[in-house]
Formats: sequence, structure tokens, C-alpha cells
Amino acid sequence: MQFKAIIFDLGDTLILTDQWKYDKCLMRLLESLQHENILVSTAYEEFKRVYFEVREQMYLEHESTLREVDFCERISKTLEKFNYKLNSKSPLLKKAIEAFFSAFIEDIRIEAYVPPLLAKLREKYKLGLVSNFAYPSGFWSTLHRFKLTRFFDTIVVSGELGFRKPHQKIFEEALKKLDVKATETIFVGDSLKADIYGAKRLGMKTVFVENVGLRKNPYAIAGELDPFSVEPDVAIPSLQGLPKIIDVLQLS
Ligand SMILES: [Mg+2]
Repeated sequence: MQFKAIIFDLGDTLILTDQWKYDKCLMRLLESLQHENILVSTAYEEFKRVYFEVREQMYLEHESTLREVDFCERISKTLEKFNYKLNSKSPLLKKAIEAFFSAFIEDIRIEAYVPPLLAKLREKYKLGLVSNFAYPSGFWSTLHRFKLTRFFDTIVVSGELGFRKPHQKIFEEALKKLDVKATETIFVGDSLKADIYGAKRLGMKTVFVENVGLRKNPYAIAGELDPFSVEPDVAIPSLQGLPKIIDVLQLS
């Protein structure tokens, strides 16, 4: 099969979140709110407990529809539990959320071989990026930090589209924009459910990257964790093995 396009997941496929500290992000968010005289007497541990309760609840609510709910909505709902009414469009809320993502962006990393690998693949294939990310502005800042946008012909993020992987809409959107068929496409990702199950169902060839970030992340969303019963076409320990694997898939 002569493939025309390769679509990548972002988190723990192209960039690594293994150094990311969720507490640091949440503390920055709370500090920013407290700076504006909101939740001044709330202890961090209490704020954290309520935040994760709301987050879990929201993912459960949308598990069957795979709707992506904006991160601002999550924080607004958390504040409601403390009897604060801050609309999800409020500038104060935005500022606090930007503080959260500034801490996230500081701690994520990329392996040095990834940008040249993408540049090389781009000579032969159309490249796409499909990411589950509930805060589009944080997503774009993440890409800009590593100057990744230049490698992709199309980028689709759940926070803008309104659907999360493995919903077929998000994959179809990328295929449409790339102007390729699913069968002409390879999907590369680290989540068996979001990436491999989702892409395979549409008929793409799938490459599972066994980066351990997601599976070691104690805050990963339940339901996106392994084990999930789907067989990728190929599994590789890291992206370094990708060019060779593509050559093998081309021949099969
Ligand atoms: Mg991922």
C-alpha cells in the first residue's frame, strides 16, 4: 500500500508529559484566583479534591457522546462548588487558566530527534495532528513552544471541534482537510482507546507508540487507560522506530 498521509497524536506521542506536575499547575491556578480575592481562605488540598471530583463527573457525563467540554467550563463548575459564580468567559478565570497552562508548558518536553523526523517524513507524506486537548489556547501555546505547527498540513484539536477521540468526527475532519482516504493513512498514537481504536475503526493503519507517559500518569482520565482490547497493526517503543515501520507497512 502506498500511503499518502501520516496523522499523529500530540501528548505522549510527539511531546512527553512525564515531567509534568499537575499539582504545580493547580497551585498556580489557585494562586491566581486568590490574587483576585477569590477562594482566599480555601486550602490547596480542598481545592484539588473538588477540582478532580468535577473533572471526573464531567468526563463521565460526556463519556457516551465524547463531547469535549472546554477547560474554562471545568474551572467555572469547580468554583460553583465553592459558591463562586464566575462565567467561563470571565477574564479573571482566563487569567487563572493561563497560569495553569504556563506551568504545564514549562514541564513538557520533546525528544531532540522528533522535529528532524517530522521534517523528513514531510518530504514524502502529508502530515496531520489530531489531539484531545480541552483548552485550545493552551494547545497552540504547546505547539508554539516546540515550533511544531510548521510540520503539519492540518491540525485538529478536540477543544475547537467539540468532539474527543475516539469519536469518528475528529478523525474524519483531519482526513477531509488532508484530502486523503482512511485507507491511505497511518495513525500514530500512544492511547489504545483514543488513538488506535478510533483510527482503526475508520480503516487507517495504526502504529502504537509505547511511550509510558500516559500509563504512568496518575491523573490520566479513567477509560483512556490501558488495558483496552484493541490490536494496533504495529507497536514501537518510541517514535525513533517510525520510519522503518512505515517502510514495512508500505510493503504489506
Ligand atoms: Mg496521547
